[in-house]
Amino acid sequence: MVSRVIPVDCFDLVVFGATGDLARRKILPGLYRRWLDGQIPEGARIIGAARSAMGADEFHAFVREALSEFVTAAEFDDARLAAFMDMLAYVAIDAAGDTGWTVLGGLMRDDVVRAFYFSVAPAVFGPLAERLHLHGIATADSRIVVEKPFGHDLTSARKLNRMLAAHFDESQIYRIDHYLGKETVQNLMAVRFANILFEPLWNAQFIDHVEITVAETVGVGGRGGYYDRSGAMRDMVQNHLMQLLCLIAMEPPNRFDPDAMRDEKLKVIRALDPVAPADVVRGQYASNGGASYVDEVGNPDSRTESFIAMKVHVSNWRWKGTPFYLRTGKRLRTRVSEIAIAFKEPPHSIFGEAERWKENVLVIRLQPDEGMDLRVMIKEPGPGGMRLKDVALDMSFAEALGDGVQIPDAYERLIMDVIRGNQTLFMRSDEVEAAWAWVDPIIADWEKRADVPRPYDPGSSGPEDALMLMHRDGRRWREVK
Ligand code: NAP
Repeated sequence: MVSRVIPVDCFDLVVFGATGDLARRKILPGLYRRWLDGQIPEGARIIGAARSAMGADEFHAFVREALSEFVTAAEFDDARLAAFMDMLAYVAIDAAGDTGWTVLGGLMRDDVVRAFYFSVAPAVFGPLAERLHLHGIATADSRIVVEKPFGHDLTSARKLNRMLAAHFDESQIYRIDHYLGKETVQNLMAVRFANILFEPLWNAQFIDHVEITVAETVGVGGRGGYYDRSGAMRDMVQNHLMQLLCLIAMEPPNRFDPDAMRDEKLKVIRALDPVAPADVVRGQYASNGGASYVDEVGNPDSRTESFIAMKVHVSNWRWKGTPFYLRTGKRLRTRVSEIAIAFKEPPHSIFGEAERWKENVLVIRLQPDEGMDLRVMIKEPGPGGMRLKDVALDMSFAEALGDGVQIPDAYERLIMDVIRGNQTLFMRSDEVEAAWAWVDPIIADWEKRADVPRPYDPGSSGPEDALMLMHRDGRRWREVK
């Protein structure tokens, strides 16, 4: 089955940081796949930019190398690759300095969409925005794509917002949270708002609790320096987990429109209760002789958390009394991202006490194997009488939609949305600031108390205390498997 693709207007996309890790792994392979799928129009151009001096041939060789690693063998085809390369150009430019701008300015065309992807360190965002204006390269309808992290706290996020706002209108700024580009996350909205089935049950009267898990098996890798200044709260909770929480908890917007959606998400963030210290567990992986966080980051005194679990309350009519449990961490047993909506017990069992009821759970899997799974009670087959059993109504998207359907990577979708001018899946400045305003006091409290994270074994499901966070409420985390 060939996927239906909505064509986009012709564009010049400048990727600042084109030789970096993100461009190599995600942006360039993503653009190639969109091109293979026929979504990139004739005449569109991708202009790589970084400080390193590089000729066109060298850049082509770099892109070829990246694609050989990050697209499938079936997609990597010489003839198609050559045609894709015709679309590429490279400019050596210092985004924070004065070299290269005239060359870039000379390449840009007036009659196509102009987009600038800031795939560079956040310290360069402000100077880059300034120079794009100074050199007359950004027009009133140009778009800029800004990578995470968007600030380190509320003060720095505000400063960054102000710097960008000095040169670009909010409608031109696309702040990426790639979780929002995942197919399942958008499907969560389709499930909630395109079916009559779920919405009447989507509240504290019928939902016992919600779990959001983003578990990684990898450690901090080469990002140790950055990660140690950030930790799981800043790196994952403030953005990805909070965005997922917002999509579950928000009221139905009146249309699928960027500001209608973002207004509703913002209301959720503003309705979050402050978190009690007892409702947060921080962890750090440590093992005798094996992988240990402090060794990996090269900081024996580090108190940064590589794991966090917390209980969060959304204080409004819909959710009063339904806790949201969030957890994320590195070097855990399995790599899995999922949202689990656990429904309440039926008010009365007609099958008697002996037949143990298990909660209905709607699981939305973000990775691996994007899909949904609804656990329901049925009669156990056979002549053994009315015995109950819980089974999964499982829907893997790849299976359900048939052979040949490829679920595009989040970055592919998001870049095409930038070209279309659709900001629905991007964070607005007030959302980012509200998220920091909620997170900052939690971190300040740890700092004040010199809180030390609890150790956990690499390959486990996190510290014991995290299990207790749910146990003491009479609940259990879903197994990370
Ligand atoms: P990276 O591997 O360090 O690459 C940085 C890129 O920026 C290189 O191409 C570098 O090339 C270029 N660069 C640095 N300073 C520059 C300047 N003054 N002017 C022009 N180009 C400059 O970083 P990355 O991992 O790709 O990350 C890029 C951004 O994405 C960061 O904001 C990061 O936080 C974010 N991000 C990355 C990932 C990921 O998986 N990598 C995930 C989420 C978010 P030259 O040295 O030749 O200039």
